[in-house]
Amino acid sequence: MTDPAVHITSGELTEDRFGRFRLLPWWDQDRIRETKVLVVGAGALGNEILKNLALLGFERVVVVDADRIELSNLSRSVLYRPHDIGRTKAEAAAAAYRNLYDRAVVQPLVSNILWDVGVGLFGWADVILAGLDNREARLWINRCAWKMGRPWIDGAIEGLNGVARVFLSGCPPCYECTLGETDWDILERRMSCNLLTREEMAAGKVPTTPTTASVIAGIQVQEALKHLHGLPVLAGKGYVFDGMNHTSYVVEYTANPECFSHHVHETIVRLPHRSADLTLEELHAEARRELQSEDVVVEFSRDIVHKLVCSSCGGEEEVFAPVGAVSVERGRCPRDGALRAVSAIHSYTGSESYGLRRLSALGLPLWDVYAARSGEREIAYLLSGDAPSVLGPLWVPPDAARPEGAQPDAARPEVARPEAGQPDVEEARPVLPGVAV
Ligand SMILES: [Zn+2]
Ligand SMILES: [Zn+2]
Repeated sequence: MTDPAVHITSGELTEDRFGRFRLLPWWDQDRIRETKVLVVGAGALGNEILKNLALLGFERVVVVDADRIELSNLSRSVLYRPHDIGRTKAEAAAAAYRNLYDRAVVQPLVSNILWDVGVGLFGWADVILAGLDNREARLWINRCAWKMGRPWIDGAIEGLNGVARVFLSGCPPCYECTLGETDWDILERRMSCNLLTREEMAAGKVPTTPTTASVIAGIQVQEALKHLHGLPVLAGKGYVFDGMNHTSYVVEYTANPECFSHHVHETIVRLPHRSADLTLEELHAEARRELQSEDVVVEFSRDIVHKLVCSSCGGEEEVFAPVGAVSVERGRCPRDGALRAVSAIHSYTGSESYGLRRLSALGLPLWDVYAARSGEREIAYLLSGDAPSVLGPLWVPPDAARPEGAQPDAARPEVARPEAGQPDVEEARPVLPGVAV
């Protein structure tokens, strides 16, 4: 008998759901099973991303979306049914995922990625897939993923067109590098000084179709698969799909050496505490000890509205909520109805009045990262004690973290990273579509 091209072990002789995948010589179903995936957005793209992940056998997924299902979502969302209208997208998507693949553990987070989700969740994920409709959330994911050293794969659709792109932490260009003047104009309008008007800016709706969503989400998930297997991906590049003319091509982005996103937390200390267990001053004291300096700044992951200050009556109100999460109504003075000014904070130097607050009372999310700096040195503190309440059934205690069925000594697969400068795709040029390969 000649040596078969595909080696089948005894365990795989039984009827195997994933047998067809294993015909690909590089396929590693165990790696897929063990990979932790964070999916941000459960709209048109998110539905297709999640459907693909479920079919492929990904078993550990967190899905983040703050919205509820409306009738108009049903035309672009394979996971939702008419009786789901009114349910949260995250919960309905998680349930539908488990229906597609019952071995999966899917944790839904009904959360806004900008202010409800700690940076620790990005560090938990082996890969982050985004199906979003706005630049602000993409920029935020880009910065968090980069800081925590994680790859993220973006998708964007409009009408019949779309783009999929891969950004690897530490390997510029990143998403922020790709932003042009128009993008920054839009972003600055959303993030302008008058922070309270943001909710009005969030209303922009973009036409999307389930057909283009499936094309782009298909590329995104396929890139995730390839990346997990150490195969070349669209790192710092975009796959651009023109659905009207049936052309697609790969665009290469240029790294911006001045880019603000290129910060990686080199030292991450995982504190066992919950954020409810520690005051800001206690964390600051820990950082002073560790950095052996009295001159330490603890930086927050995001800006916090400390106070609303009324210029008409001089009244002040302490808020402690993330910038952007405070509505215009809340911003009005209860006495005279004037729109109050926002006083925002983003760090603690040891003397501010809010030092005695527990970290959980600062308006920052659970499982967040606090970067303590002294001069050039930085230690990022991760509040790991919060992880169980964020991850729910996906949480495994440190050291006991051994997936079912894995070999006791099997190390978690290292996620491959392409060598810097290695061309993954030929230089950007139009590709003739329409050929089935
Ligand atoms: Zn960049
Ligand atoms: Zn007032």
